[in-house]
Amino acid sequence: MDRKRSSELFEQAQKLIPGGVNSPARAWNSVGGVPIFFARGQGSHAWDSDGNSYIDYVCSWGPLILGHARPEVIKAAQDAAALGTSFGAPTELEVRMARLVVDAVPSIEMVRFVNSGTEATMSALRLARAYTGRNRIIKFDGGYHGHDDALLVKAGSGVAAQGIATSAGVHPDYAAATMVADFNSVESVKRLLEAHRDEVAAIIVEPVAGNMGVVPPAPGFLEGLRELATAHGALLIFDEVISGFRVAYGGAQSVYGVKPDITCLGKIVGGGFPVGAYGASEEIMRTVAPLGPMYQAGTLSGNPVAMAAGITTLELLKEPGVYEGIADTTERLVSGLRSLFAQAEAPAQINSVCGAFTVFFNARPVTDMATASASDMDAFARFFHAMTERGVYPPPSQFEAWFVSAAHTADDVEQTLAAARDALTS
Ligand SMILES: *Cc1c(COP(=O)(O)O)cnc(C)c1O
Repeated sequence: MDRKRSSELFEQAQKLIPGGVNSPARAWNSVGGVPIFFARGQGSHAWDSDGNSYIDYVCSWGPLILGHARPEVIKAAQDAAALGTSFGAPTELEVRMARLVVDAVPSIEMVRFVNSGTEATMSALRLARAYTGRNRIIKFDGGYHGHDDALLVKAGSGVAAQGIATSAGVHPDYAAATMVADFNSVESVKRLLEAHRDEVAAIIVEPVAGNMGVVPPAPGFLEGLRELATAHGALLIFDEVISGFRVAYGGAQSVYGVKPDITCLGKIVGGGFPVGAYGASEEIMRTVAPLGPMYQAGTLSGNPVAMAAGITTLELLKEPGVYEGIADTTERLVSGLRSLFAQAEAPAQINSVCGAFTVFFNARPVTDMATASASDMDAFARFFHAMTERGVYPPPSQFEAWFVSAAHTADDVEQTLAAARDALTS
Protein backbone atom coordinates (compact mmCIF):
# COMPACT_ATOMS: atom_id res chain seq x y z
CA MET A 1 0.00 0.00 0.00
CA ASP A 2 1.47 3.33 -1.10
CA ARG A 3 1.14 6.14 1.45
CA LYS A 4 3.53 8.63 -0.08
CA ARG A 5 1.23 11.63 0.32
CA SER A 6 0.59 10.86 4.02
CA SER A 7 4.38 10.77 4.56
CA GLU A 8 4.85 14.12 2.80
CA LEU A 9 2.04 15.74 4.76
CA PHE A 10 3.36 14.33 8.04
CA GLU A 11 6.80 15.82 7.28
CA GLN A 12 5.24 19.27 6.78
CA ALA A 13 2.84 18.92 9.70
CA GLN A 14 5.61 18.08 12.16
CA LYS A 15 7.29 21.42 11.43
CA LEU A 16 4.08 23.36 12.05
CA ILE A 17 2.06 21.48 14.66
CA PRO A 18 3.50 19.71 17.76
CA GLY A 19 4.00 16.09 16.70
CA GLY A 20 2.18 16.93 13.47
CA VAL A 21 -1.21 16.43 15.15
CA ASN A 22 -3.90 18.39 16.98
CA SER A 23 -4.57 15.59 19.47
CA PRO A 24 -1.76 13.27 20.65
CA ALA A 25 -3.33 9.85 20.01
CA ARG A 26 -3.41 10.66 16.28
CA ALA A 27 0.40 10.55 16.12
CA TRP A 28 0.65 6.72 16.35
CA ASN A 29 3.23 7.03 19.14
CA SER A 30 2.29 3.71 20.67
CA VAL A 31 2.30 1.71 17.41
CA GLY A 32 5.04 3.60 15.54
CA GLY A 33 5.05 4.63 11.90
CA VAL A 34 3.57 7.48 9.89
CA PRO A 35 -0.06 8.33 10.67
CA ILE A 36 -2.52 8.10 7.80
CA PHE A 37 -3.83 11.47 6.59
CA PHE A 38 -7.47 11.19 5.62
CA ALA A 39 -9.19 13.05 2.83
CA ARG A 40 -12.75 11.70 2.67
CA GLY A 41 -15.25 9.49 4.44
CA GLN A 42 -18.52 7.89 3.45
CA GLY A 43 -20.48 5.44 5.58
CA SER A 44 -18.16 2.83 7.13
CA HIS A 45 -15.25 3.77 4.84
CA ALA A 46 -12.57 6.45 4.84
CA TRP A 47 -10.06 7.26 2.08
CA ASP A 48 -6.58 8.58 2.73
CA SER A 49 -4.73 11.32 0.84
CA ASP A 50 -3.17 8.68 -1.44
CA GLY A 51 -6.61 7.31 -2.35
CA ASN A 52 -6.37 4.07 -0.33
CA SER A 53 -9.62 2.96 1.26
CA TYR A 54 -10.16 1.60 4.77
CA ILE A 55 -13.02 0.15 6.77
CA ASP A 56 -12.92 2.66 9.62
CA TYR A 57 -13.22 1.47 13.24
CA VAL A 58 -11.99 4.74 14.76
CA CYS A 59 -15.05 6.68 13.54
CA SER A 60 -13.51 9.93 14.82
CA TRP A 61 -13.04 8.18 18.23
CA GLY A 62 -16.75 7.68 18.71
CA PRO A 63 -18.92 10.50 17.36
CA LEU A 64 -19.70 8.89 13.99
CA ILE A 65 -22.20 6.25 15.14
CA LEU A 66 -24.07 6.75 11.85
CA GLY A 67 -20.87 6.50 9.83
CA HIS A 68 -19.15 9.24 7.82
CA ALA A 69 -21.12 11.97 6.06
CA ARG A 70 -24.60 10.55 6.67
CA PRO A 71 -26.63 12.56 4.11
CA GLU A 72 -29.43 13.67 6.49
CA VAL A 73 -26.89 14.95 9.05
CA ILE A 74 -24.84 16.80 6.44
CA LYS A 75 -27.96 18.39 4.97
CA ALA A 76 -29.18 19.53 8.39
CA ALA A 77 -25.80 21.16 9.10
CA GLN A 78 -25.67 22.80 5.66
CA ASP A 79 -29.22 24.14 5.98
CA ALA A 80 -28.47 25.54 9.44
CA ALA A 81 -25.18 27.11 8.30
CA ALA A 82 -26.93 28.88 5.44
CA LEU A 83 -29.16 30.63 7.99
CA GLY A 84 -26.23 31.91 10.05
CA THR A 85 -23.68 29.91 12.02
CA SER A 86 -23.95 31.62 15.40
CA PHE A 87 -25.87 34.39 17.12
CA GLY A 88 -24.57 34.49 20.67
CA ALA A 89 -28.24 34.51 21.57
CA PRO A 90 -30.73 31.69 22.13
CA THR A 91 -32.21 29.78 19.19
CA GLU A 92 -35.09 27.34 18.77
CA LEU A 93 -32.69 24.52 17.87
CA GLU A 94 -31.20 24.58 21.40
CA VAL A 95 -34.65 24.03 22.89
CA ARG A 96 -35.32 21.08 20.57
CA MET A 97 -31.92 19.58 21.31
CA ALA A 98 -32.34 19.98 25.08
CA ARG A 99 -35.76 18.29 24.88
CA LEU A 100 -34.21 15.30 23.05
CA VAL A 101 -31.43 14.91 25.64
CA VAL A 102 -33.76 15.26 28.62
CA ASP A 103 -36.12 12.67 27.13
CA ALA A 104 -33.24 10.30 26.33
CA VAL A 105 -31.15 10.25 29.49
CA PRO A 106 -32.98 9.05 32.63
CA SER A 107 -31.16 11.23 35.19
CA ILE A 108 -31.16 14.51 33.25
CA GLU A 109 -33.89 17.10 33.92
CA MET A 110 -31.91 20.12 32.73
CA VAL A 111 -28.92 20.29 30.43
CA ARG A 112 -26.25 22.82 29.43
CA PHE A 113 -24.50 22.49 26.05
CA VAL A 114 -20.77 23.17 25.69
CA ASN A 115 -18.24 22.56 22.89
CA SER A 116 -16.38 19.40 23.91
CA GLY A 117 -16.33 16.48 26.30
CA THR A 118 -13.51 18.18 28.20
CA GLU A 119 -15.67 21.23 28.82
CA ALA A 120 -18.49 18.97 29.98
CA THR A 121 -16.41 17.12 32.61
CA MET A 122 -14.59 20.27 33.72
CA SER A 123 -17.94 21.99 34.25
CA ALA A 124 -19.41 18.94 35.97
CA LEU A 125 -16.60 19.00 38.55
CA ARG A 126 -17.08 22.72 39.14
CA LEU A 127 -20.80 22.10 39.55
CA ALA A 128 -20.22 19.26 42.01
CA ARG A 129 -17.87 21.46 44.07
CA ALA A 130 -20.27 24.38 43.98
CA TYR A 131 -23.26 22.23 44.97
CA THR A 132 -21.57 20.30 47.79
CA GLY A 133 -19.17 22.97 49.04
CA ARG A 134 -16.43 20.30 49.05
CA ASN A 135 -13.20 20.04 47.06
CA ARG A 136 -11.94 16.50 46.63
CA ILE A 137 -12.67 14.32 43.62
CA ILE A 138 -12.36 10.56 43.18
CA LYS A 139 -11.57 9.23 39.71
CA PHE A 140 -10.40 5.83 38.50
CA ASP A 141 -7.04 4.63 37.26
CA GLY A 142 -7.32 4.53 33.46
CA GLY A 143 -10.40 6.78 33.38
CA TYR A 144 -10.03 9.55 30.79
CA HIS A 145 -12.26 12.58 31.11
CA GLY A 146 -10.63 15.05 28.74
CA HIS A 147 -7.67 17.30 29.47
CA ASP A 148 -9.00 19.34 32.39
CA ASP A 149 -6.18 19.90 34.93
CA ALA A 150 -7.94 18.15 37.79
CA LEU A 151 -8.60 15.04 35.70
CA LEU A 152 -5.20 14.47 34.09
CA VAL A 153 -4.20 12.03 36.79
CA LYS A 154 -3.78 8.34 35.83
CA ALA A 155 -5.83 9.15 32.76
CA GLY A 156 -5.51 6.08 30.52
CA SER A 157 -5.95 6.34 26.76
CA GLY A 158 -3.65 8.80 24.94
CA VAL A 159 -2.02 9.71 28.24
CA ALA A 160 -1.20 6.05 28.97
CA ALA A 161 0.01 5.54 25.40
CA GLN A 162 2.45 8.43 25.89
CA GLY A 163 3.69 7.00 29.17
CA ILE A 164 2.68 10.18 31.00
CA ALA A 165 1.17 9.36 34.38
CA THR A 166 0.24 12.95 35.03
CA SER A 167 0.71 15.82 32.61
CA ALA A 168 3.44 18.40 33.16
CA GLY A 169 2.08 21.87 33.84
CA VAL A 170 -0.81 20.82 36.04
CA HIS A 171 -0.90 22.92 39.19
CA PRO A 172 -0.05 20.53 42.04
CA ASP A 173 -2.98 21.86 44.10
CA TYR A 174 -5.44 20.69 41.43
CA ALA A 175 -3.88 17.27 41.15
CA ALA A 176 -3.73 16.99 44.95
CA ALA A 177 -7.51 17.27 45.24
CA THR A 178 -7.92 14.33 42.83
CA MET A 179 -7.75 10.85 44.36
CA VAL A 180 -7.50 7.69 42.29
CA ALA A 181 -9.38 4.43 42.91
CA ASP A 182 -9.37 1.16 40.94
CA PHE A 183 -12.08 0.56 38.35
CA ASN A 184 -14.39 -2.28 39.36
CA SER A 185 -13.30 -2.04 43.00
CA VAL A 186 -16.00 -0.58 45.25
CA GLU A 187 -13.67 -1.29 48.18
CA SER A 188 -10.99 1.09 46.84
CA VAL A 189 -13.57 3.91 46.72
CA LYS A 190 -14.88 3.12 50.17
CA ARG A 191 -11.38 3.41 51.66
CA LEU A 192 -10.89 6.88 50.14
CA LEU A 193 -14.30 8.12 51.26
CA GLU A 194 -13.71 6.90 54.81
CA ALA A 195 -10.26 8.45 54.97
CA HIS A 196 -11.65 11.82 53.79
CA ARG A 197 -15.08 12.12 55.38
CA ASP A 198 -17.14 15.16 54.28
CA GLU A 199 -14.40 16.25 51.85
CA VAL A 200 -15.32 14.45 48.63
CA ALA A 201 -17.45 16.48 46.20
CA ALA A 202 -17.78 13.83 43.52
CA ILE A 203 -16.88 10.42 42.19
CA ILE A 204 -16.41 10.61 38.41
CA VAL A 205 -16.51 7.40 36.40
CA GLU A 206 -16.94 6.16 32.87
CA PRO A 207 -19.77 3.69 33.61
CA VAL A 208 -18.40 1.52 30.81
CA ALA A 209 -14.69 2.27 30.71
CA GLY A 210 -13.59 3.13 27.19
CA ASN A 211 -10.18 4.71 27.60
CA MET A 212 -8.25 1.75 28.99
CA GLY A 213 -9.82 -0.13 26.11
CA VAL A 214 -13.40 -1.30 26.66
CA VAL A 215 -13.94 -2.57 30.21
CA PRO A 216 -17.57 -3.10 31.26
CA PRO A 217 -18.56 -2.57 34.90
CA ALA A 218 -18.54 -5.74 37.03
CA PRO A 219 -21.94 -6.69 38.50
CA GLY A 220 -22.58 -4.51 41.53
CA PHE A 221 -19.84 -1.96 40.79
CA LEU A 222 -22.04 0.93 39.64
CA GLU A 223 -24.67 0.10 42.28
CA GLY A 224 -21.91 0.14 44.91
CA LEU A 225 -20.72 3.58 43.76
CA ARG A 226 -24.28 4.88 43.91
CA GLU A 227 -24.75 3.66 47.48
CA LEU A 228 -21.39 4.99 48.67
CA ALA A 229 -21.86 8.40 47.04
CA THR A 230 -25.28 8.82 48.65
CA ALA A 231 -24.07 7.62 52.06
CA HIS A 232 -21.14 10.07 52.03
CA GLY A 233 -22.95 13.08 50.56
CA ALA A 234 -20.80 13.05 47.40
CA LEU A 235 -22.24 13.40 43.90
CA LEU A 236 -21.90 10.55 41.41
CA ILE A 237 -20.85 11.77 37.96
CA PHE A 238 -21.20 9.43 34.99
CA ASP A 239 -18.91 10.48 32.17
CA GLU A 240 -20.97 9.12 29.30
CA VAL A 241 -19.02 10.98 26.62
CA ILE A 242 -18.38 7.61 24.93
CA SER A 243 -21.19 5.43 26.30
CA GLY A 244 -23.99 7.99 25.86
CA PHE A 245 -26.14 7.16 22.80
CA ARG A 246 -23.77 4.22 22.08
CA VAL A 247 -24.32 1.32 24.47
CA ALA A 248 -28.01 2.30 24.23
CA TYR A 249 -29.95 5.43 23.32
CA GLY A 250 -30.25 6.29 27.03
CA GLY A 251 -26.58 5.54 27.71
CA ALA A 252 -25.04 3.15 30.24
CA GLN A 253 -27.35 4.44 32.99
CA SER A 254 -30.34 3.07 31.10
CA VAL A 255 -28.62 -0.30 30.55
CA TYR A 256 -27.37 -0.84 34.12
CA GLY A 257 -30.28 0.92 35.85
CA VAL A 258 -28.10 3.18 38.01
CA LYS A 259 -28.82 6.91 38.14
CA PRO A 260 -25.90 9.32 38.53
CA ASP A 261 -26.36 12.82 39.94
CA ILE A 262 -24.59 14.48 36.99
CA THR A 263 -24.13 13.11 33.46
CA CYS A 264 -21.51 14.28 30.95
CA LEU A 265 -22.09 13.83 27.23
CA GLY A 266 -20.01 14.51 24.13
CA LYS A 267 -18.94 12.76 20.93
CA ILE A 268 -22.19 11.28 19.48
CA VAL A 269 -24.36 14.11 20.85
CA GLY A 270 -22.78 16.52 18.35
CA GLY A 271 -23.31 14.32 15.29
CA GLY A 272 -19.69 14.89 14.21
CA PHE A 273 -19.54 18.54 15.28
CA PRO A 274 -18.01 19.94 18.48
CA VAL A 275 -20.64 19.51 21.20
CA GLY A 276 -20.51 18.43 24.82
CA ALA A 277 -23.20 18.60 27.47
CA TYR A 278 -23.68 18.20 31.19
CA GLY A 279 -26.99 17.63 32.84
CA ALA A 280 -28.56 16.72 36.17
CA SER A 281 -31.71 17.19 38.24
CA GLU A 282 -33.27 20.62 38.13
CA GLU A 283 -32.23 21.15 41.75
CA ILE A 284 -28.53 20.59 40.99
CA MET A 285 -28.63 22.51 37.69
CA ARG A 286 -30.08 25.54 39.51
CA THR A 287 -26.52 26.05 40.79
CA VAL A 288 -25.41 27.02 37.25
CA ALA A 289 -25.31 30.72 36.22
CA PRO A 290 -27.47 32.69 35.55
CA LEU A 291 -29.70 30.80 38.03
CA GLY A 292 -26.97 30.16 40.57
CA PRO A 293 -23.43 31.01 41.65
CA MET A 294 -21.44 28.58 39.46
CA TYR A 295 -20.17 30.36 36.36
CA GLN A 296 -19.82 28.60 33.02
CA ALA A 297 -20.18 30.10 29.54
CA GLY A 298 -19.27 29.67 25.86
CA THR A 299 -19.31 31.92 22.77
CA LEU A 300 -20.19 29.12 20.35
CA SER A 301 -22.06 26.88 22.82
CA GLY A 302 -25.30 25.57 21.35
CA ASN A 303 -24.54 27.02 17.91
CA PRO A 304 -27.12 26.19 15.23
CA VAL A 305 -24.86 24.07 13.00
CA ALA A 306 -23.82 21.69 15.77
CA MET A 307 -27.34 21.60 17.24
CA ALA A 308 -28.87 20.76 13.86
CA ALA A 309 -26.39 17.91 13.33
CA GLY A 310 -26.98 16.66 16.88
CA ILE A 311 -30.77 16.78 16.59
CA THR A 312 -30.74 14.91 13.29
CA THR A 313 -28.33 12.28 14.66
CA LEU A 314 -30.46 11.63 17.74
CA GLU A 315 -33.65 11.47 15.69
CA LEU A 316 -32.08 8.92 13.34
CA LEU A 317 -30.84 6.89 16.33
CA LYS A 318 -34.40 6.73 17.69
CA GLU A 319 -35.63 4.84 14.65
CA PRO A 320 -36.54 1.23 15.40
CA GLY A 321 -33.83 -1.39 14.96
CA VAL A 322 -30.79 0.93 14.91
CA TYR A 323 -29.23 -0.34 18.16
CA GLU A 324 -30.20 -3.95 17.44
CA GLY A 325 -28.29 -3.60 14.17
CA ILE A 326 -25.22 -2.06 15.80
CA ALA A 327 -25.24 -4.70 18.57
CA ASP A 328 -25.55 -7.47 15.99
CA THR A 329 -22.64 -6.15 13.88
CA THR A 330 -20.51 -5.78 17.03
CA GLU A 331 -21.34 -9.33 18.12
CA ARG A 332 -20.46 -10.81 14.73
CA LEU A 333 -17.11 -9.01 14.66
CA VAL A 334 -16.32 -10.03 18.23
CA SER A 335 -17.24 -13.69 17.87
CA GLY A 336 -15.46 -13.88 14.51
CA LEU A 337 -12.29 -12.33 15.93
CA ARG A 338 -12.44 -14.58 19.00
CA SER A 339 -12.43 -17.73 16.91
CA LEU A 340 -9.68 -16.42 14.60
CA PHE A 341 -7.42 -15.62 17.56
CA ALA A 342 -8.19 -19.03 19.08
CA GLN A 343 -7.35 -20.80 15.79
CA ALA A 344 -4.09 -18.85 15.54
CA GLU A 345 -3.37 -19.70 19.20
CA ALA A 346 -2.77 -15.98 19.79
CA PRO A 347 -3.77 -14.96 23.31
CA ALA A 348 -6.55 -12.35 23.25
CA GLN A 349 -9.28 -11.02 25.49
CA ILE A 350 -12.07 -9.28 23.64
CA ASN A 351 -14.23 -7.04 25.82
CA SER A 352 -17.35 -5.62 24.20
CA VAL A 353 -20.56 -3.68 24.63
CA CYS A 354 -23.04 -2.53 21.98
CA GLY A 355 -21.08 -0.53 19.42
CA ALA A 356 -17.59 -0.86 20.92
CA PHE A 357 -14.99 -3.52 21.66
CA THR A 358 -11.28 -3.92 22.36
CA VAL A 359 -8.99 -6.79 21.41
CA PHE A 360 -6.50 -7.01 24.29
CA PHE A 361 -3.37 -8.97 23.48
CA ASN A 362 -3.55 -10.58 26.86
CA ALA A 363 -4.04 -14.12 28.17
CA ARG A 364 -5.88 -12.99 31.31
CA PRO A 365 -9.24 -11.22 31.74
CA VAL A 366 -9.05 -7.41 31.57
CA THR A 367 -11.11 -5.78 34.32
CA ASP A 368 -9.17 -2.61 35.17
CA MET A 369 -6.15 -0.51 34.16
CA ALA A 370 -3.62 -2.83 35.83
CA THR A 371 -4.83 -5.86 33.86
CA ALA A 372 -5.16 -3.80 30.64
CA SER A 373 -1.56 -2.63 31.05
CA ALA A 374 -0.35 -6.24 31.16
CA SER A 375 -1.24 -6.59 27.45
CA ASP A 376 1.42 -7.27 24.82
CA MET A 377 1.82 -3.83 23.18
CA ASP A 378 4.29 -5.05 20.53
CA ALA A 379 1.93 -7.77 19.35
CA PHE A 380 -0.87 -5.20 19.23
CA ALA A 381 1.29 -2.83 17.16
CA ARG A 382 2.15 -5.60 14.66
CA PHE A 383 -1.52 -6.54 14.34
CA PHE A 384 -2.51 -2.87 13.90
CA HIS A 385 -0.06 -2.37 11.02
CA ALA A 386 -1.02 -5.68 9.39
CA MET A 387 -4.67 -4.59 9.47
CA THR A 388 -4.11 -1.09 8.03
CA GLU A 389 -2.06 -2.69 5.22
CA ARG A 390 -5.14 -4.79 4.46
CA GLY A 391 -7.55 -1.85 4.37
CA VAL A 392 -8.91 -1.98 7.92
CA TYR A 393 -8.27 0.96 10.26
CA PRO A 394 -8.40 0.00 13.97
CA PRO A 395 -7.56 2.50 16.75
CA PRO A 396 -3.78 3.08 16.88
CA SER A 397 -3.45 2.12 20.56
CA GLN A 398 -4.14 -0.91 22.73
CA PHE A 399 -5.96 1.38 25.20
CA GLU A 400 -8.73 2.43 22.83
CA ALA A 401 -12.07 1.10 21.64
CA TRP A 402 -12.90 -0.09 18.13
CA PHE A 403 -16.12 1.75 17.30
CA VAL A 404 -18.87 0.09 15.27
CA SER A 405 -21.40 2.28 13.47
CA ALA A 406 -24.82 1.74 11.96
CA ALA A 407 -23.09 2.08 8.58
CA HIS A 408 -20.91 -1.03 9.01
CA THR A 409 -22.37 -3.80 6.86
CA ALA A 410 -22.25 -7.61 6.83
CA ASP A 411 -19.79 -7.22 3.97
CA ASP A 412 -17.54 -5.01 6.12
CA VAL A 413 -17.62 -7.69 8.83
CA GLU A 414 -16.56 -10.39 6.33
CA GLN A 415 -13.76 -8.23 4.92
CA THR A 416 -12.55 -7.30 8.41
CA LEU A 417 -12.44 -10.96 9.48
CA ALA A 418 -10.67 -11.96 6.27
CA ALA A 419 -8.07 -9.24 6.90
CA ALA A 420 -7.64 -10.41 10.50
CA ARG A 421 -7.20 -14.05 9.41
CA ASP A 422 -4.53 -12.98 6.97
CA ALA A 423 -2.87 -10.62 9.48
CA LEU A 424 -2.72 -13.33 12.15
CA THR A 425 -1.12 -15.90 9.84
CA SER A 426 1.44 -13.35 8.63
C1 LIG B 1 -13.28 11.81 24.52
C2 LIG B 1 -13.63 11.81 25.97
C3 LIG B 1 -13.67 12.99 26.73
C4 LIG B 1 -13.20 14.30 26.18
O1 LIG B 1 -13.95 14.76 25.13
P1 LIG B 1 -13.29 15.84 24.10
O2 LIG B 1 -14.43 16.20 23.21
O3 LIG B 1 -12.19 15.11 23.41
O4 LIG B 1 -12.81 16.97 24.91
C5 LIG B 1 -14.14 12.93 28.02
N1 LIG B 1 -14.55 11.77 28.56
C6 LIG B 1 -14.50 10.61 27.88
C7 LIG B 1 -15.00 9.37 28.52
C8 LIG B 1 -14.01 10.59 26.58
O5 LIG B 1 -13.91 9.43 25.91
